[in-house]
Amino acid sequence: FQRLNVSEKPKDELEQMGETFNKMIEILESNYEKQRRFISDASHELRTPLTVIESYSKLLKRWGKHDPNRLEEAINAIHDESIRMKNLTKQLLLLATNEQEKATTLSEKINITAITTETAKKLSVAFDRDVSVTTHTEYFVLGNDLQLKQVLFILIENGLKYSKAPIQINIEKDKDYIKLLFIDKGIGIPAEDLPHIFNRFFRVDKTRSRQTGGSGLGLSIAKSIIDAHNGKIEVASTVNEGTTFTLFLKECKDIREEIK
Ligand code: ADP
Repeated sequence: FQRLNVSEKPKDELEQMGETFNKMIEILESNYEKQRRFISDASHELRTPLTVIESYSKLLKRWGKHDPNRLEEAINAIHDESIRMKNLTKQLLLLATNEQEKATTLSEKINITAITTETAKKLSVAFDRDVSVTTHTEYFVLGNDLQLKQVLFILIENGLKYSKAPIQINIEKDKDYIKLLFIDKGIGIPAEDLPHIFNRFFRVDKTRSRQTGGSGLGLSIAKSIIDAHNGKIEVASTVNEGTTFTLFLKECKDIREEIK
């Protein structure tokens, strides 16, 4: 983009227009840079499993037929990396869809207590681990059912992935907001990494996450959904003690009031 040359003063209409154009260029440039970064990060993340698949298929072609151990190792690696790629592309698609849907998000009165309990139960079965939900009553928020379930899924699954103990979820009222706490007694997040965990593709420990199949996209998806709901997501963590994610969502008492 080419900038217009604008002198300091006096400001006539043409110069004001020039300044406006320059501001527009700055915005376009920063959006362009963000998109460029995103594409380059996404390509990099997709290339890694592809490289593993490529090298293991080469190995299979050369040795596989004669060596049962290599055959087994190669098939397992190709299988794991294909699943990683599948999950990654699924999450990238979700991220793109969330961006598009931002404008139409807040349309339903959601029983947040019910969907939290439902999601907790599903994941508790999947991981064969206790996920308990504590609440005094049913609370409602205004939002998008599928997107909120996705956020709950991400936070509960992370709690289960990064700890070995049961997970606790508390739902309570905090002024005009419904506050949800996701408490795990897991490995925790180092203080210096906390500011980055909502960034796309960020993982505290690349090798460890690779074992758990993480893409580093979950929390950035969760944050983009919560931002679109005009809510807040916070984190507090101590290494080797555990992590608590806190969600704030505006309470919805009467849907007719809210969508006026
Ligand atoms: P991933 O798919 O890698 O889990 P996320 O965006 O969901 O991606 O999380 C980013 C990183 O934040 C994870 O790789 C992990 O290092 C860290 N993290 C997220 N949740 C927790 C948690 N409950 N306990 C410890 N670390 C966590």
